[in-house]
Amino acid sequence: MTEATTAPKPIPEPDETSEPFWKATLEGKLLLMKCSDCGGFRLPSRQHCDRCLSAKFEWTPASGRGTVRSFGRMHQVYHPAFAEEVPYTLAIVELEEGPRLPTNIVDLDGREVRVDMPVELTWERHEDVALPKFRSRD
Ligand SMILES: [Zn+2]
Repeated sequence: MTEATTAPKPIPEPDETSEPFWKATLEGKLLLMKCSDCGGFRLPSRQHCDRCLSAKFEWTPASGRGTVRSFGRMHQVYHPAFAEEVPYTLAIVELEEGPRLPTNIVDLDGREVRVDMPVELTWERHEDVALPKFRSRD
């Protein structure tokens, strides 16, 4: 029997600010920090609002719907953990709430990704976090 040579995927490590975000992913919830003063969203999670510098916020669940704004098809193996996934699709998805999220488009089943494609949330589960990914709503 040969030993597997694939490295584990690099997984986000939650910090104090992002821990509630990552904890919610395990329950299938995509939470956004919503500024309590101006209503702006913070993604990724951070202590102060970009628009008004307020430190006040509440965690708000996102709808899980979005639109592809940009994408690239990756054919090169840049990290051994992704060797079996090439070619895969990196994309910037604009959430219905406004923030843009770097992510992957998955479950394409032969469909072509396009800019303005409507997409919905799905999850790639790991032990301590789940990664938000998107699939077509067409
Ligand atoms: Zn604000």
